Amino acid sequence: MQRDALAPRYVRNFSCTGSKCPDNCCHTWQVAIDAETYRGYRTNPAVIPLVEDKIAENHDLTTKDITPGFFKMDPKTNRCSLQDTSGLCQLVKNFGPNALCQTCTTYPRSIQQLGDDLLITLSDSCPVAAKSLITQPDALELDFAPVAIPPNPLATSVDAPNAFNARYQLLQGLLTLLRHREQSLEMRLFICGLLIQKIQPLFDKSPTDQLEEKLEETLGLFYSLVNEGYFEEQAKALNKKSDGSLGLVILGTLRREKKQNNAAFNEELSRALKGLNITDKTQLDISHLNQLDKARKKYLTNFEKKHPHSLENLLVNWLLGSLFPIKNTNLMDGWTNLMARYLLLRTLLSAIGAEQKKLGSL
Ligand code: SF4
Repeated sequence: MQRDALAPRYVRNFSCTGSKCPDNCCHTWQVAIDAETYRGYRTNPAVIPLVEDKIAENHDLTTKDITPGFFKMDPKTNRCSLQDTSGLCQLVKNFGPNALCQTCTTYPRSIQQLGDDLLITLSDSCPVAAKSLITQPDALELDFAPVAIPPNPLATSVDAPNAFNARYQLLQGLLTLLRHREQSLEMRLFICGLLIQKIQPLFDKSPTDQLEEKLEETLGLFYSLVNEGYFEEQAKALNKKSDGSLGLVILGTLRREKKQNNAAFNEELSRALKGLNITDKTQLDISHLNQLDKARKKYLTNFEKKHPHSLENLLVNWLLGSLFPIKNTNLMDGWTNLMARYLLLRTLLSAIGAEQKKLGSL
């Protein structure tokens, strides 16, 4: 089914590789079943024998109406219990793709109603989507045009806390600044952070009828300052003042980040910590930051030379997927979350590079 939607180029080119996928999506996470499909699974006599011992009831009273159940995972493999040994879904094999629940039909798409438009992005947990983001410089080129989407997809509507149009305008401004590729990504992030700091008071204090005009003025000012190179000096001064404590916080966070049920992530995390000689008992200090800095220059920088827009694309994809700043009452909090995620990824990649003595190319 085709729908007119706002979607980046990599969404339009996406095609699931199915059983050939290197990291098939039916594992590790618990798939939530929507109410209509759940009713069908519980009442259709043809389907009951296949699914009855493979779905679990949701006992959470707050989510039960929307998500009455989940597919059980096979505890031995941590994979969906409906997956056969060749990686195929038994529901699809026996009853066709229409037997899937909304979550499975929609993944890896995130479909969100944004004002009058539909915005579609993909989750970077899908290897095909991640590869496009890493290798295709124009993966995030946004277009409004027909996109193929599955029938009966899971689409969420977005509630902006206030001033939807102004927030949409800010989103477009951030995309413009983040894709100003004459500057380093770090510099673009620094500028966006300053912009958000400047704009939060406008959202807090400006009368609604003046907000869009003031926002346009501020965005216009930032575009001119960027073109004049004004922020370069500010960034240099800030770099001199930096004492590295943020780096230590990030390393500490990474060490605590163990996700018990995500074996693949845990493996990469252990590899990263080993690359920096960090154990649970290590006292983190400046020597670890120096090691990290060396690893970044040696491995991540090389990776970025091969795929110059990979980190930018991942970040812009998070921004669109989380609908920042449309959904955030406090803009600074939302931005800080995105930055923390970005810094963790950068640190993880550099440290894995240190352990492997290389960062793989795609
Ligand atoms: S992870 Fe992506 S490519 Fe792999 S099976 Fe799932 S949707 Fe298809």
